[in-house]
Amino acid sequence: MESKPRIGVYICHCGVNISATVDVEQVAEFAATLPNVVVSRDYLYMCSDPGQGLIQEDIETYDLNRVVVASCSPRMHEPTFQGAAQQAGMNPYLVEMANIREQCSWVHSDRERATEKAKWLVASVVAKAAELSPLEEREVDVTPGSVVVGGGVAGMAAALDVADAGFPVYLVEKSERLGGRLAELNRTFPTLEPVADLIGPLIERVQTHPAITLFLNAQVTNVEGYVGNFKVKVTGQEGERQVEVGSIIIATGYDLFDPQRKPELGYEYPNVITSLEMEQRLFDGDLAVNGREPQRVTFIQCVGSRDVQVGNPYCSRVCCMYTAKQASLVKDILPNADVTVLYMDVRTFGKGAEEFYDEARAKGVRYRKGNVSEIYRRGERVVLSGEDTLLGQPFDWETDLVVLAVGMESRADISELSTMLKLPRSADGFFLELHPKLRPVDTAVNGVFLAGCCQGPKDIPDTVAQAKAAASSALIPLLKGTVPVESATAVVDADLCAGCGMCVDVCPYGAPALDLLWGVSKINAVLCKGCGACATACPSKAINLQHFTPEQILAQVDALVG
Ligand code: SF4
Ligand code: SF4
Ligand code: SF4
Repeated sequence: MESKPRIGVYICHCGVNISATVDVEQVAEFAATLPNVVVSRDYLYMCSDPGQGLIQEDIETYDLNRVVVASCSPRMHEPTFQGAAQQAGMNPYLVEMANIREQCSWVHSDRERATEKAKWLVASVVAKAAELSPLEEREVDVTPGSVVVGGGVAGMAAALDVADAGFPVYLVEKSERLGGRLAELNRTFPTLEPVADLIGPLIERVQTHPAITLFLNAQVTNVEGYVGNFKVKVTGQEGERQVEVGSIIIATGYDLFDPQRKPELGYEYPNVITSLEMEQRLFDGDLAVNGREPQRVTFIQCVGSRDVQVGNPYCSRVCCMYTAKQASLVKDILPNADVTVLYMDVRTFGKGAEEFYDEARAKGVRYRKGNVSEIYRRGERVVLSGEDTLLGQPFDWETDLVVLAVGMESRADISELSTMLKLPRSADGFFLELHPKLRPVDTAVNGVFLAGCCQGPKDIPDTVAQAKAAASSALIPLLKGTVPVESATAVVDADLCAGCGMCVDVCPYGAPALDLLWGVSKINAVLCKGCGACATACPSKAINLQHFTPEQILAQVDALVG
């Protein structure tokens, strides 16, 4: 017979994040009066070591068999409290959280009413906790090895770290060469190191590493499986091959903004070029326009960035600095030329960046805050028509060569991979990390990690840092040899199932499949993430979602309306 629930309730202050709006002492006193609650406390930071220790001590002292923590979102700290309870001998699925921060203190200002709301939230979760059942924890074996998609600097850095740890890596690159966008550049900022010196040895190491299998001119065309056991189909000129790996790193990079989408900037004129074309000119040491050295070179920043009209409200993070680099190099080649940068704001974060910007100005590069509304031709020159936004005055600026500092965009083909791997994207179109601060390289799909600019614009140091972080994360399941899988999964009652297939259609993870022999649905418990979409869609009410059973949900609802 199941023992009577003995619930411990823990109300977190979160410093003042919660306690400034919610009277946490009062909520703790209220919780102590709820059915089955044996102990109720408030504490400054529940997620801290002493906070977790408090729960663990109480589990032993009061023989608790359920724990309720009222604090931040479960997305933030559910694993923390489940782990703490588990260490004290409790099944982790007997821990439940009430979100009184994001859903209460952060969205209300009336202290009295927020405190009342927090009490109701706690009461409803305590009612659910009384109905919880322990779930069996499960693990699956891991296939050693990783697939890395993308052979730019991020993909190569990640691949080398995984391979150096002794695991096979399959590096899939869409084009015929390694190096990605970086290989198209001349020098890096702020050190002015030649890109060839940076990337050459990296390519050499990847090409000769015994643990790396390289697929050039190839694409990932199908992915099946789950963390620890992915089956990845790679299609190239040399045909198709399926590889089996435990983790996947996505490092597909970015596209450059196409300036033709802003026709007013005159990209059709031969003396209006993009920053990438400027890289090539600087590499060749040839800045001539119509066979003559330009006397005036003008850079326009933020082309396709911080521009809601083209759908890119974000900053591309690199254009300010690569413009300073290019303007400085132009000044080196043409010391007498007028080199002007038209900017919205200058953002020079990063090591050595501000100093580099200062040096460029000291060399004579002029910065003018302004917007360009139109570029038109006048003889062999072009005229930039716009407004000096510091002076509030219009200008017509005649120049020999215009460089458009184009920004970064998510790749045009990103949706294929996004659909194939069920990877969500953020509003800016790039892949979405699981948590912007705490899990910046993880994705919503366990075992799939992000590296580099496929997640958002970055410079080279940030790209490599993220690639190395993705490699470390991708190595965890490989090194452990087993991975835990979700226990709170959906289960089909075959007696109720009508075999309509709705659950198959709605599941974003491909977990349910119809058993053709019996005409009923079966859910692959390893693939199921417990999202509940199928349980909601099933017209026969044949699907039960463990940890969110009708009894548990109704107990919560009763507590709220009672
Ligand atoms: Fe803040 Fe959550 Fe930690 Fe409490 S548990 S201190 S609410 S982050
Ligand atoms: Fe069976 Fe329900 Fe799935 Fe239809 S939606 S196949 S009734 S489990
Ligand atoms: Fe798929 Fe979600 Fe249902 Fe699991 S709970 S089978 S992941 S729809």
